[in-house]
Amino acid sequence: MSYSANPERYELMTYNRCGTSGLRLPAISLGLWHNFGGIDVFENGRAMLCRAFDLGITHFDLANNYGPPPGSAEETFGRVLKDDFSAYRDEMIISTKAGYYMWPGPYGEWGSKKYLVSSLDQSLKRMQLDYVDIFYHHRPDPNTPLEETMAALDLIVRQGKALYVGISNYRPEETREAARILKRLGTPCLIHQPNYSMMSRWIEDGLQDVLDEEGIGSIVFSPLEKGILTDRYLEGITPDSRAAGPSVFLKPEDLSKERIAKVKQLNELAMERGQKLSQMALAWVLRRGRVTSALIGASKASQIEDAVGALRVPDFTDEELARIDAILK
Ligand code: NDP
Repeated sequence: MSYSANPERYELMTYNRCGTSGLRLPAISLGLWHNFGGIDVFENGRAMLCRAFDLGITHFDLANNYGPPPGSAEETFGRVLKDDFSAYRDEMIISTKAGYYMWPGPYGEWGSKKYLVSSLDQSLKRMQLDYVDIFYHHRPDPNTPLEETMAALDLIVRQGKALYVGISNYRPEETREAARILKRLGTPCLIHQPNYSMMSRWIEDGLQDVLDEEGIGSIVFSPLEKGILTDRYLEGITPDSRAAGPSVFLKPEDLSKERIAKVKQLNELAMERGQKLSQMALAWVLRRGRVTSALIGASKASQIEDAVGALRVPDFTDEELARIDAILK
């Protein structure tokens, strides 16, 4: 059956301005890193994308290497875009990235102009798109001059292949320098994509100040710490979870007894607040408006519904924030 979007979708979401740009992003965005690859069930991916859009999630985040196999998440997204979302392209912000290993030889990873331009051309073909809304350099490259990488981002915008550019995983000083170069080239840095969660707080140590000073927005990845900050692992590892699957990014060793004991205490606090732990974790990264969007992953549509429910919860009291800090210290 052909898809028709929920007419109420924009009432269900909050949209935050991205830095000092004209672009507003949904407070919750959906990433296609896991569960949208060629090895996954296509209909489940499609159902998640449609549910997300119906809930007002207008931003979908990809990268050249998402799958597995690498590239297949972009193909999945391209198929849904063509079959279901073709009427809604202008209501969506679609991003992709290049930086990690994608193909053999000296031009298949890192930050050269050769790699970034070729990779985006391949991504556009896989998604059957003329342009993406945001193109990112996925990780800093210690061996390519930052001038060259930023010039590639600027070129891509001038070629009409991306509307905006961003950087991901850059440290504070690299970010300041990248922002300076991009400003001089006339293509401002729209957004930074770092990881951030109650358990991973490095961006508070300098990066957020740089972003504020430079007028750059932030979209934070793995706000649920890849599933740890949910009720997923409270009773052990279930076979359908990421920790039980082939992903090398979350392994049973990451779920130590001590860590799960802390997660249980956080879960109790969330219940006292009348919400799920996953919702408290998302409300926490979005607290006090310093983050533009929380970039979640999901393996089923109900998890996306949980995430959007995080926007309808009370603000944190100082006491609750202190309790979270004490549990995790
Ligand atoms: P999260 O921390 O949001 O983890 C998502 C996982 O948590 C889901 O796949 C699911 O795992 C579990 N989960 C989600 N909601 C619930 C719920 N309500 N109840 C129980 N479990 C839940 O983010 P990801 O690590 O998936 O990353 C999100 C996105 O960030 C990626 O898709 C990608 O776009 C981006 N990213 C960017 C990186 C970069 O270098 N720029 C690096 C990593 C990610 P399960 O499968 O167990 O159900």
